[in-house]
Amino acid sequence: MSVPVSQAFTICSYIIRQRLKGNKYYPLVLMLEPLFRCNLECAGCGKIQYPEHVLQRRLTPEQCFRAADECGAPVISLPGGEPLIHPEMKEIVEGLVARKKYVYLCTNALLLKRKLDLFTPSKYLTISVHLDGLEEEHDHSVCREGTFKTAVEAIQEALKRGFRVTTNMTLFEGANPDRVREFFDFLTHLGVEGIMLSPGYSYTHAPDQKHFLHRNRTHDLFNRILSSPKKAWHFNQSPLFLEFLMGHRDYNCTPWGMPTYNVFGWQKPCYLLQDGYARTFQEMIKETDWAHYGHHTNNPLCRDCMVHSGFESSAVNDTFGSWEGFLRTVKLTLFGGLGEGYRNGRQAQLAAQLAASGHGQKPSSTCGCGCSSSKPQESADDKK
Ligand code: SF4
Repeated sequence: MSVPVSQAFTICSYIIRQRLKGNKYYPLVLMLEPLFRCNLECAGCGKIQYPEHVLQRRLTPEQCFRAADECGAPVISLPGGEPLIHPEMKEIVEGLVARKKYVYLCTNALLLKRKLDLFTPSKYLTISVHLDGLEEEHDHSVCREGTFKTAVEAIQEALKRGFRVTTNMTLFEGANPDRVREFFDFLTHLGVEGIMLSPGYSYTHAPDQKHFLHRNRTHDLFNRILSSPKKAWHFNQSPLFLEFLMGHRDYNCTPWGMPTYNVFGWQKPCYLLQDGYARTFQEMIKETDWAHYGHHTNNPLCRDCMVHSGFESSAVNDTFGSWEGFLRTVKLTLFGGLGEGYRNGRQAQLAAQLAASGHGQKPSSTCGCGCSSSKPQESADDKK
């Protein structure tokens, strides 16, 4: 298990309480964006394109606490922008931890080593470091050399001081499955608690539009990465979500499971789309036309979306909503074996789908960055 027992127990008991109350629209993780400003300019990012007057705005600690109290999710993710730029991040983290929320401070780690003194190790605080691969891939992805080394040094220091540390990784078209598996080995050796994976969402205003993954390509890529996973790898997300990424399960999204609050208010309907804002969490739940979203609706904005913030909650609902989902989760958690039992049939189906869509070739050998300094990545097959 990649989270402590106390965290797993808190989340399980919260979900059971919500289900017993008959509450369909319950949040699992609050995505609390305290600011949009960042100290990197990644080509696949959809958050840093705001005009300067928006980038200057940030949530106060009181606004953060009100959002946390209002929605009641047991887990709070602090993405951004870069949260360590926020001058009151210490107060925000302390206030959320005091409320016994499991806080994931998501950072690119450029400032982490310098700012670690602001925080106290706790089972309620996890530092989630953005790393998109080994040195070459990560530095390409964030469009700045040296970022990987800085982040790894900060992770080592945080681990030494007793912090919980995980990593989060976004995968784009052209990712090399062999290198990703090597990256998992590296993180395991480094001693992080868990790895979080997600395909990138094709933000219409992100600078690089060429490298977002389409649905079949996502299935293919995650099958190549996660088939025969090593026992030592730990992922801090639902194993059913990973099987969903591999194409072995189909879910519609559950965007209210990870609602977003930022300087504009409660974002409708999800972390990725902006169809307006509500003043309160309840207003957002009531006013959003949920039937309009998800890939089953043929909404073009949702067609290729398989991101963590939309579908992890769907996988968790499956665990608690069906015997098959529950038993499968227990089996995968205790014994591993992602994708087993589906593999042969599903892989043949994937190959046929890819051939039919004209994408039957191996992943292209460009990086997921689009910055002018990018050096094309070679796949293992290319090197043979
Ligand atoms: S499918 Fe993705 S983009 Fe569409 S509502 Fe769900 S999470 Fe948002």
